[in-house]
Amino acid sequence: MTVNLLDFDLEGLTAFCEQLGEKRFRAVQLFRWIHQKGASRFDEMSDLAKSLREKLPSVCSITGLPVLSRQDSADGTIKWLFDVGDGNAVETVFIPEDDRGTLCVSSQAGCAVGCRFCSTGHQGFSRNLTTGEILAQLWHAEHFLRQHLKSSERVVTNVVMMGMGEPLQNYSALVPALRVMLDDHGYGLSRRRVTVSTSGVVPMIDRLAKDCPVALAVSLHAPNDQLRDVLVPINRKYPIAELLDACLRYLPAAPRDFITFEYCMLDGVNDQPEHAAQLLELVRHHGGRGVPCKFNLIPFNPFPDSGLKCSPRPVVQAFARILSEAGIVTTVRKTRGDDIDAACGQLAGDVMDRTQVARRIAAAQPIRFVHPAKE
Ligand code: SF4
Repeated sequence: MTVNLLDFDLEGLTAFCEQLGEKRFRAVQLFRWIHQKGASRFDEMSDLAKSLREKLPSVCSITGLPVLSRQDSADGTIKWLFDVGDGNAVETVFIPEDDRGTLCVSSQAGCAVGCRFCSTGHQGFSRNLTTGEILAQLWHAEHFLRQHLKSSERVVTNVVMMGMGEPLQNYSALVPALRVMLDDHGYGLSRRRVTVSTSGVVPMIDRLAKDCPVALAVSLHAPNDQLRDVLVPINRKYPIAELLDACLRYLPAAPRDFITFEYCMLDGVNDQPEHAAQLLELVRHHGGRGVPCKFNLIPFNPFPDSGLKCSPRPVVQAFARILSEAGIVTTVRKTRGDDIDAACGQLAGDVMDRTQVARRIAAAQPIRFVHPAKE
């Protein structure tokens, strides 16, 4: 098996080039061809020495993920289903808005955290994605969209690690992928526009602050440990107080001066005024000075056997009002791509329904990798 260059951040690619007897500037050239121009073949890299262009195909490749399907919504949302082998697939969603284009990226096939309201969690864990598989989602989407929209500008302006999986449980693959997203020779995204969403893997929040601080979103979903132990089982290991302490430790390194708390609205479970009051108590007084934060309320997207229902709209609005009137910036997540079922998960329109993934895999024949420009 040859080396896949999508697996490398610039440092890794430099080391690989040095093994081939090439200088760092060659790694920079290669890196720019791959990530900025979307090249998948070495013979199109016109400024590389001919001898290197001829040598590279025998030792490495630029290999994206096979596309099982692409769905385009009337509102511009696009969802790809990528084959990651052994019957597993991951989903990636592009959500265009007036002032940005957000790509929701998966980090694992399945998820081991097992959140009660999450269809991915219900399907269990298959495996971690590699750095190359995480980046292939962005590489494919960005260069497909540039072709599709006939744009010479960057189309994906924001990345949210909120697709399938708990990104901080795939830390060693995640961090090089984040570095490529941020690298000026790569996608050149600002740290404020790359968000890692976590269910609360406390030690890894601390490591991320040191290794690659980007915007942080925390899936809170409950205002007390008793309820969160049930909804987000990792809470039994890292309870709310420890999680909020980690948020406070993260903030000095963070590119934003607040943490985003995601909160899935579940009818009669966590959506009552007393839950909002408990949340306020938590975020205003934790650690004596509180946790600077925003809340993002997410209408639950029901799936078979969840046993849960979405809170009625007036209940969501009343909940949002309690937080807003207390001075906490609170948004209610809009559903996007309804006609293509893009909001098939619960976090950020984002967690993917592997039941549907499995069904579509059964219906779809994997196709050979097609370069994004030719999809
Ligand atoms: S909500 Fe996120 S962390 Fe929880 S089970 Fe789903 S994918 Fe995993």
